[in-house]
Amino acid sequence: MAGMVYLVGAGPGDYRLISIKACDYLKKADTVVYDRLADDRILGYARKDAEFIYVGKASSQHTMKQEDINQLLVDKAKEGKVVVRLKGGDPFVFGRGGEEALLLQENNLPFEIVPGITSAISVPAYAGIPVTHRAVATSFAVITGHEDPTKGESNMRWDKLSTGVDTLVFLMGVGNLPHITSKLIENGRAADTPAAVVRWGTKPEQEVLVTTVGKAAADVAQRQLKPPAIFIVGEVVNLREKLAWFDNRPLFGKKILVTRAREQASQLTAALEELGASCIEAPSIRLTDPADGYAAVDAAIEAIASYQWLIFTSTNGVEHFFSRLAGSKLDARSLGGAKIAAIGAATAEKLQAYGIMADVVPLEFRAEGIVEALTGEIKPGMKILIPRAQEAREILPEKLREMGAQVDVAPVYQTIAGEIDEAALSKMLAAGEIDLVTFTSSSTVTNLLQLLGNQAALLQAVKTVCIGPITAKTCIDHKIEPAAIADNYTIEGLVEAIKALLSK
Ligand code: SAH
Repeated sequence: MAGMVYLVGAGPGDYRLISIKACDYLKKADTVVYDRLADDRILGYARKDAEFIYVGKASSQHTMKQEDINQLLVDKAKEGKVVVRLKGGDPFVFGRGGEEALLLQENNLPFEIVPGITSAISVPAYAGIPVTHRAVATSFAVITGHEDPTKGESNMRWDKLSTGVDTLVFLMGVGNLPHITSKLIENGRAADTPAAVVRWGTKPEQEVLVTTVGKAAADVAQRQLKPPAIFIVGEVVNLREKLAWFDNRPLFGKKILVTRAREQASQLTAALEELGASCIEAPSIRLTDPADGYAAVDAAIEAIASYQWLIFTSTNGVEHFFSRLAGSKLDARSLGGAKIAAIGAATAEKLQAYGIMADVVPLEFRAEGIVEALTGEIKPGMKILIPRAQEAREILPEKLREMGAQVDVAPVYQTIAGEIDEAALSKMLAAGEIDLVTFTSSSTVTNLLQLLGNQAALLQAVKTVCIGPITAKTCIDHKIEPAAIADNYTIEGLVEAIKALLSK
């Protein structure tokens, strides 16, 4: 049976500027054939066990000739594969999607086109430039800037384009600006027409140069702007002065190191990226099975009805405890007899996802504060279960035992140093390329230090922000002076502190 080929637009760069249909097809693809993409996270929409074939450009030479790519699609479809052919922007806007579709059609193979968000419109939009605007521009054209000026014959209708269309958007044109701009001027476009060059539009690295048709070539040479970039010509460029929104955000252009277990990094990264930052996720910790195994928690689950209190100290503790509980074919109802404390709002919220409203939510993360919140609740002889990280501190159980409680600590996970290219990270830190490092727990501090071969100096030279006083103390213990500590010991609180610090 013949397969199916989807020619899919991957959007201009921001990995979320992609259609739901594109994601659906990626999820079912056996084979993904892709060019150099603006963001590897797009491949993350596909199945992990799909076959990934890179056919894009490596530096200046093509990895695969266009004819070979066309043939590859035909071969895969004949093998019965569901193929997604991913292309930047829209597949039919200077994407050679038409050629690929034609060969499929000639071979009687089924195909579908999934349009994408083209850079021609979205990149100007991210620079605050609408390609049309009432009373300013009633037409726009998307033009290749790749025309070889040494070829005498031109397919381009410069005479019509230069003055017949209000907004001109050139793709693939940065290297060719002297030719493009002189043609425009020669054919009657005023040299003082506003123009802009936008590089890596929609990405945290976005760069915008506002100029005029007459000055563009010299300005780009001076700024050494390289591809990929688009060149926009027309009065609409003036609107950027008022409409710039993307590169105006408080953390735009800042590089932030997010040190969290992979499972949790995404929330912090998403919040920071929304404010314009570009994040490097260094999963300096990773969650695994507890070193002592699950015997303690399994024993506790077996005797779950005997506990009067359960204390959850983190969202991970909640998740891992409930997955263990489910492993014993039990759910929240088995905790019915016990009261529940959740330390911090995020932990309480996580419990709600399992159908549990915590009885007490101490907002203070230090053992002293927790014990204070529980005073009057805990009576001598009461049995308390604390499901938590293997390496957590002993103070909380000790304090509770001092109150006469019988405390069982059950490790449900362990954080261990994660894998990351430490050489690359050290180099970036040493070169001052990172504006800020975030720490969300003491173990993120010690694990990152360990990863950096204990070169604390690398972290002393960069701004660090801590989620709370315990994490900050761990920093100070290692001679790292935090630049800020969140008032609110949550991810939201941390983001607020970062915003206050970096937009100062
Ligand atoms: N099919 C694509 C265009 C492919 S041609 C689309 O619809 O967007 C490649 C050219 O697109 C680049 O040379 C550059 O001019 C432009 N381009 C693509 N992504 C861009 C981005 N994020 N920022 C600036 N220009 C981009």
